[in-house]
Amino acid sequence: MMNRNLSLLFLMWAMLQSCQNLSQGNSDYSNTMTLDTTQYNALHDTYKESALFHRRFKHSDIDSLIRVHQERGTLSIQEIGKSVESRSIYKLQFGTGEKKVMLWSQMHGDEPTATMALFDLFNFIEGRDDGYDSVRHLLKERLTLHFIPMLNPDGAERYARRNAQHIDLNRDARDGQTVEGALLRKMAKEIQPGYGFNLHDQNIYYNVPDTKNPVTISLLAPAYNYARETNEVRKGAMQLIVGMNHILQQYVPDAVAKYDDTYTPRGFGDNFQSWGASTVLIESGGKKGDPEKQEIRKLNFIIILNALLEIAQGSYKQYDFQDYEKIPFNASQLHDVVVRNVDLGNDSVPLKTDIAIRRGEITIGRDYFVRGRIEDIGDLDESYGYEEIDADGLMFMQGETYPKTFDSVEQLDMDQVWDLLKQGYMAVRINSKGQDRLHQLPIVLFTQQQFTPASQIGLSGTCNFFLGDGQNRKYAIVNGYLIDLSQRPKENFYKNRVN
Ligand SMILES: [Zn+2]
Repeated sequence: MMNRNLSLLFLMWAMLQSCQNLSQGNSDYSNTMTLDTTQYNALHDTYKESALFHRRFKHSDIDSLIRVHQERGTLSIQEIGKSVESRSIYKLQFGTGEKKVMLWSQMHGDEPTATMALFDLFNFIEGRDDGYDSVRHLLKERLTLHFIPMLNPDGAERYARRNAQHIDLNRDARDGQTVEGALLRKMAKEIQPGYGFNLHDQNIYYNVPDTKNPVTISLLAPAYNYARETNEVRKGAMQLIVGMNHILQQYVPDAVAKYDDTYTPRGFGDNFQSWGASTVLIESGGKKGDPEKQEIRKLNFIIILNALLEIAQGSYKQYDFQDYEKIPFNASQLHDVVVRNVDLGNDSVPLKTDIAIRRGEITIGRDYFVRGRIEDIGDLDESYGYEEIDADGLMFMQGETYPKTFDSVEQLDMDQVWDLLKQGYMAVRINSKGQDRLHQLPIVLFTQQQFTPASQIGLSGTCNFFLGDGQNRKYAIVNGYLIDLSQRPKENFYKNRVN
């Protein structure tokens, strides 16, 4: 009996608390409902959409997931239009609240990180009895959420930025000439959101200025005019960003930046801001050891959910919008590999200098391979690398082609390749290219008659050579990958293709 009374009392107290949470005024945010990193981590673990696990998913993957969510019935789902190549574009809606929020992702087909996070969010919204029903209730009562994941499905199919007509949708906000751009415009006019989330990926070579930290997330409250003035609408976006940055700093300290804030009259973020929606641009960047951006996807989930909670409660207004200005702008000083102080001279002309390398991705279906390229040679003190070595005392050493031919990739394994590299071999001839020509061995595989490893380091040449003291090789650079020859190369890391 006593126990029962106590639990009743507790229940009443809890209800009172949540009523307080829901009814608080503008100035006191002490009762704001917030989640901490432990809670966010647990939520993402539980609700992460396992059908999406790398960046090159396609519209068919999204289509199947949409069927699942339709059956669950929590979100109201509508096909709002079709792409140029007739792929369905969907809107998922949740909540009955006064504050209208629009979130759209992947208007650039090769920028998929936030799409994954949105599907994680859908799973969370549909969850129940996990201790977070009060969060869902709050969102549902206060907000009407309109999600448009994968606005550019034709681009996603090719893993390309532009739509099937080669138009950059983010330069079509003013004209609305593309079907996809016109659709987003139309939705904005119909919904008249008070808040907008424009979800993108930026390249992985942006860094926090003068540090070797890749920018993992960059944020922007886009300008609505050339003077980059601040009105109440843009100020709201800045305050939301200050809140998002608080939580990001707990996950990726000093890896957050601002995106270029130049006014772009053709861009959607800029237009949404001028149409009266406090609009936040989220750009997923790079993080060492996260090539498929699964950790960055989690950060998207967290900061979007955090922002929605703040919008629901108005609590973002507690932040000083001028703190937004303290977030540094993206710098572009980062490379995959920087080699410092390498000896590139010859017998008659000395040269000691630095090399910077980047690896471009080339998509093959749902997979890809890279092409390593020397981006720069010279004094690169202001450049940084995901990997850096001091090559003082080391010089360029040409690789050799192994004299024996193998039948296929399968005849080689990592131990053999490591041995070959240590002996100075950079290339191996094989008879069969294999089906998709892709392989994960850090050595040049080729099927032509001949392959000539680079005889010197140049800006346009291939990126395959050794660094050593003239006698012994210490590092191999294979297709832009740096391999320390004293350590067995990593499995499942290299993305190469048979030449
Ligand atoms: Zn983009």
